[in-house]
Amino acid sequence: MENISVLGSTGSIGESTLDVVARLPDRYKIIALTANRSVEKLIEQCKTFKPHYAVMAEESAAEKLESALREIGLSEIQVLSGVEGLEKVASLPEVDQVMAAIVGAAGLLPTLAAARAGKRVLLANKEALVMSGQLFIDEIEKNNAELLPIDSEHNAIFQCMPSHKRTDLRSVGVKRILLTSSGGPFLNRTLNELCGVTPDQACAHPNWEMGRKISVDSATMMNKGLEVIEAHWLFNAPADDIQVVVHPQSVIHSMVEYDDGSVLAQMGNPDMRTPIAHAMAWPERTISGVSSLNLFDIARLDFEKPDFERFSCLRLAYDALRNGGTSTAILNAANEVAVDAFLNETISFLNIPKVIESVMDQMAAVDANSLNVVLEADKEARSIAVEEIQSLGR
Ligand code: NAD
Ligand code: MG
Repeated sequence: MENISVLGSTGSIGESTLDVVARLPDRYKIIALTANRSVEKLIEQCKTFKPHYAVMAEESAAEKLESALREIGLSEIQVLSGVEGLEKVASLPEVDQVMAAIVGAAGLLPTLAAARAGKRVLLANKEALVMSGQLFIDEIEKNNAELLPIDSEHNAIFQCMPSHKRTDLRSVGVKRILLTSSGGPFLNRTLNELCGVTPDQACAHPNWEMGRKISVDSATMMNKGLEVIEAHWLFNAPADDIQVVVHPQSVIHSMVEYDDGSVLAQMGNPDMRTPIAHAMAWPERTISGVSSLNLFDIARLDFEKPDFERFSCLRLAYDALRNGGTSTAILNAANEVAVDAFLNETISFLNIPKVIESVMDQMAAVDANSLNVVLEADKEARSIAVEEIQSLGR
């Protein structure tokens, strides 16, 4: 039996994880479920999975959950709250695997706690790695933890790599990584047509159903930018060896090109239960509930180059990666604030990259040599982004 804590269990990745676990009750046991403030959803999940712990990030939500669980006779489930509660369930001695599926920077500390405790870290929360980079990789290596990518592209790359150890790619014959991107819902819109797009239009992804933050990131292509940075850290690949390939059907989830000209691809229906089941069972294989790929229905696969002008977030992410240090934490923080402002209809879609670029211009990156330095950069970038958004409104 493998014991799992699911951080962010009420989200899109969290629910897909529980779907896989429910199919394999003899193999996986849920030890902890966590959410920000969705009490109702967490109660339902507690009824089904009977975890030992349930954590609400918000204190008041934790109080509500605790009394609700008592009323329905589930008082043996221990209710915790805050970052401390999340860190605790990420590092419990009885836990083998931690699904890191909190969205955004809020996931950094609990995900790091899982790495420090030497767990198998199932990493969906790309923002955590984008922010902390080398520090995160060091914690994984120092504590003999395992880092398994959940992001479909990175999981695909992992499956196509010759070695599952982080290594010098040249020494194992890998030439470059081909990171595929659906292009998001606005792939074929002109800059002019992007002017007035609404949050609901941005969140209507053609192939994937996801949380609202990552959906907007897909529409701006910042998601792909964050993924380039994620691939750099996961696979030790320089920015120049990561080529983004727009592939609207989302059937090939990414590719690895070798020195001999071979290109290995991992394919499948766009359903996150495949990478989740893969990472949980690795190196074995299990069922996931995903239907068979019907190539006759798909019929064709298209590829095109990314457009860095219409999707300037992608350019900003490459810039941040090349610049190094705290640049990627600054990029991530400014993006989170800008996306939030867009979702609240405070700024327009095209102002998202403007806010990010302006924050990046105003802050000098420094060596990201400690967690404090990273958290400080995150905090400062957020406050500059807020000012920037206010000045846009004036
Ligand atoms: P989501 O918004 O659907 O879910 C987020 C989860 O995090 C929820 O359970 C929520 O309660 C919790 N949460 C939010 N803020 C929190 C806070 N401050 N403290 C504690 N918990 C908090 O998001 P999602 O689409 O499931 O994405 C989760 C992560 O996985 C993101 O980092 C995203 O980039 C990554 N990811 C998602 C997909 C996908 O298909 N959804 C694919 C690849 C990667
Ligand atoms: Mg992805």
